[in-house]
Amino acid sequence: MAEQEYSLPIPVADEASQEFFDGAKEGRLMLLRCSQCGRHRLPGRERCADCWSTETEWVQASGRGKLYTFGVMHQKYHPAFAGVTPYNFAIVELEEGPRLVTNIVECENDDLRTDMPVEAVFDSVSEETTLIRFRPAS
Ligand SMILES: [Zn+2]
Repeated sequence: MAEQEYSLPIPVADEASQEFFDGAKEGRLMLLRCSQCGRHRLPGRERCADCWSTETEWVQASGRGKLYTFGVMHQKYHPAFAGVTPYNFAIVELEEGPRLVTNIVECENDDLRTDMPVEAVFDSVSEETTLIRFRPAS
């Protein structure tokens, strides 16, 4: 974001997602990988959806994926968003499989297309928090 102070609501890490947010701060997109079957998932799910195992390890994802779907928000449901409307919200399907709710940056909303290749960018919005957004892959 620009030099001006970030005024939108900022997510707060919990115990399950701390590693994810710590990784983002260091420019890494972290995922959980099932130790039994190797399937990747986002934090917040205790068990693997494939094999039901709770055994996991944190791994760094490539940061590449594709735009699975998106929308453009015109309503101001929260006063903090008045200055950024219309903005996009997107679901990016990572190369590793998980789908992440995010925003696409460095792209006009009119130019967004499903399946377009995207790559992660790390947006430091406060001293404590870096958000992971995506831009069209170069
Ligand atoms: Zn598994």
